[in-house]
Amino acid sequence: MPKNFSLGPVHVPAPPIERFCQFLERNGKRLTRQRRLIVEQVFSHHDHFDADELLDHLRPLLAARKLSRPTVYRTLSELVEAGLIRKLPLGTRSIFEHEYGYPSHDHLYCQRCNRLIEFHSADLDRICAAVAKEHRFEVSGHRMFVMGICAECRK
Ligand SMILES: [Zn+2]
Ligand SMILES: [Zn+2]
Repeated sequence: MPKNFSLGPVHVPAPPIERFCQFLERNGKRLTRQRRLIVEQVFSHHDHFDADELLDHLRPLLAARKLSRPTVYRTLSELVEAGLIRKLPLGTRSIFEHEYGYPSHDHLYCQRCNRLIEFHSADLDRICAAVAKEHRFEVSGHRMFVMGICAECRK
């Protein structure tokens, strides 16, 4: 029987920028032009990225002095705190991925080219739930990384 490991549709009750505004307001901050530019870039497409990759995407804005690097780092921390993105340690680097409204999923991670393939498995959810129950552990989510070499790199 073929299995479907796709993630399914993403349901988001409010746009990320709105959620971020609420978070900033609660903390006595406001959505500056710089913060808005960063949030727009981060949520323009779903991907896993590290700080360097994000800085790379923002290079034209940095070059035009519309953004500063410290602001990018600060805003990333704020987005994590606001629950919009999640920071994951992966080898020697840290990657970020969308958290808000995004379904629970796991990854195949290519150690040669850093490619991440996302998948979802109901079987794995069941195993996690069973193990958690045995330890009377309350699960808030899981992010598994299966290490190895992808098909492209194995050629
Ligand atoms: Zn690879
Ligand atoms: Zn992911």
